[in-house]
Amino acid sequence: MSDASAPVAIVGGGAVGTSTLFHLAEQHDVAGVLFEKGQLGSGSTSKAAGGVRNTYTTPLNVEIGNRAIDYFQTFEERVGEPLDFRQNGYMYLYHTDEWAARWRDLAVDLREQGVTAEIRSAADAAETFPGLDAAAIQGALYGPDCGHVDPHSLTQGFASAAVDRGATIHTKTAVTDVVVEDGAVVAVETEAGRYAVGAVLDAAGPWAARVGAMVGVGLPLSFFLRRIMVTSPMEGASGPLVIDPEWECYVEAERNGSLLVCDTAQDVHDVADPDTATEGSVGYDYYLRTTEKVERLLPGLADLDVVNGWGGVQSHTPDGHAILGPTDVEGFHVACGFSGHGVQQSPVVGAAMADLLATGSTDRFDVDQLALDRFERTDRIDPEGMA
Ligand SMILES: Cc1cc2nc3c(=O)[nH]c(=O)nc-3n(C[C@H](O)[C@H](O)[C@H](O)COP(=O)(O)OP(=O)(O)OC[C@H]3O[C@@H](n4cnc5c(N)ncnc54)[C@H](O)[C@@H]3O)c2cc1C
Repeated sequence: MSDASAPVAIVGGGAVGTSTLFHLAEQHDVAGVLFEKGQLGSGSTSKAAGGVRNTYTTPLNVEIGNRAIDYFQTFEERVGEPLDFRQNGYMYLYHTDEWAARWRDLAVDLREQGVTAEIRSAADAAETFPGLDAAAIQGALYGPDCGHVDPHSLTQGFASAAVDRGATIHTKTAVTDVVVEDGAVVAVETEAGRYAVGAVLDAAGPWAARVGAMVGVGLPLSFFLRRIMVTSPMEGASGPLVIDPEWECYVEAERNGSLLVCDTAQDVHDVADPDTATEGSVGYDYYLRTTEKVERLLPGLADLDVVNGWGGVQSHTPDGHAILGPTDVEGFHVACGFSGHGVQQSPVVGAAMADLLATGSTDRFDVDQLALDRFERTDRIDPEGMA
């Protein structure tokens, strides 16, 4: 492989890297090469709950959310691979007048941006998600267009379709260095040899800062550990993903009625090493505290068994938005810092990154708002309030 070459190398085979690889081949006829140090999707992508939404506070995220939902609806015809996507909605619960006002204002903003957003009474919310205790809440904001995508079928779909169109994927192959000459990327060193390349995309998720450091590009990322537990099936459980920002938790009913439960108040902040962060992270203490809290909303939870659980690392930026685009090193691009929405943004972001890598510009959305240099500018995008 020492004489191998490719126009573009992608570091990282999560949802973002595989989507970019696919769009390079499909939209630009560029046969890129992707290196993944483990298995495809084995980073943050495999830990994601799979939530998909267009309910954000910043217009750019709403726009990306709307486009992503449209993409997921038409995935099979665009990509030629099956996708497990359902629009079961999102429902944000509230308990106080202050939050009621906040959600009412947001619903108005969202409707102005083409998003279906309805305020529901406590009784209606409890009908929308059977098992929810109406007495525990004041009401809810309901977004019926939101839903759930399976991160595995998404990543595998993009990867298979990219390979069918001429791209190459090397799994179990870490990129160990990115070689720069005269200020421009010329090659990547990998565990399987050197590749001469014209451009590199750093799509390494929680490891993106380490890849950036290979070329002296600093990325303002911080990491935290988020944990999820899965219960035995609850009879009749179905409906939207239910989020309670005041009580800091969310619940989603799987197709078989199992509940996927997350206590965001138990996130572990300031994780230093993404390699070791998840080890032994979901234990009895987490289950106990999560169950105690969430059964106030869903009393039936007390009768269920905990059957599974996992932790995963999320990458955060100071303003809750991803970092996308070129850097000071010619040919070195980044797509990282997606916090809790990298899976759902991957189709739209991957298409834009492919444009940037192949042509140097994109008109899919205003990607400049998410450029790395925004942190030094005065015209910064507002922080995302629902990151
Ligand atoms: C518990 C939890 C719940 C979440 N829920 C949601 C959700 O509901 N909806 C949503 O959209 N998002 C969710 N997210 C966030 C989402 O998982 C991430 O934003 C998304 O997976 C980022 O994708 P990625 O491709 O950028 O990174 P990753 O999936 O992390 O992929 C990066 C890949 O790079 C590889 N890599 C790293 N370094 C190298 C190297 N040197 N050489 C080669 N390969 C390398 C890694 O092995 C990894 O596979 C959640 C995250 C967690 C942890």
